[in-house]
Amino acid sequence: MDTAFLTRWIAGIADAVRAERDRLTELDAAIGDADHGANLDRGFGAAVQALADDPPAAPGALLRLVGGTLISRVGGASGPLYGTAFREAGRSLGSSGEASEVSLADLARALRAGLDGVTRLGSAAEGDKTMVDAFAPAVRALETAVSAGAGEREAFEAAASAALAGAEATVPMVARKGRASYLGPRSAGHEDPGAASCALIFAALCTADQ
Ligand code: ADP
Ligand code: MG
Ligand code: MG
Repeated sequence: MDTAFLTRWIAGIADAVRAERDRLTELDAAIGDADHGANLDRGFGAAVQALADDPPAAPGALLRLVGGTLISRVGGASGPLYGTAFREAGRSLGSSGEASEVSLADLARALRAGLDGVTRLGSAAEGDKTMVDAFAPAVRALETAVSAGAGEREAFEAAASAALAGAEATVPMVARKGRASYLGPRSAGHEDPGAASCALIFAALCTADQ
């Protein structure tokens, strides 16, 4: 995978977030403040623009630019959290003498570093009804696919379906982190918006793979 692949991935996320903007907003209206669709639409739209304005030469730099853009352009919890995820993923791909190609194992390690960044910043664990409930199983599925010697397509499909299952599993959970936690038990019965958007992010890996 190279910068062209990662650029397609970010563009695919932006398209999916735009297409699902109303659904993300409705999910956030139920247990938050109804801005998750708008937040991510603005953030990933800005990330696509930033990549077009000044195309990074290496995968690590590209992911760091996406992360920085999300942090500066998205208000709310999800901007710093997703921003940190992309920035830490980029950092893990190296900052000096960066390779132009990234292996599946490199990408799995990078996304693991991104997830670690999210849990360090937000201190959510699985089961707290956040994006982590989709992110963590998706990273595990990627790692399992790497260990099994799977190809990219198979690995991305496994990660995407793990993220989707993780997002769906947030429905009965009671939120323990973020705005939804203010609702206590009333947060149960709704899918977490951040987990839903995280599933879109992993699904976009499949469409970026050509
Ligand atoms: P805000 O809640 O500030 O309006 P968004 O609506 O954009 O921000 O994002 C809400 C999502 O952020 C939640 O659905 C949840 O998945 C995620 N989130 C909130 N707090 C945390 C946290 N501490 N750790 C991980 N994810 C979190
Ligand atoms: Mg919100
Ligand atoms: Mg908000």
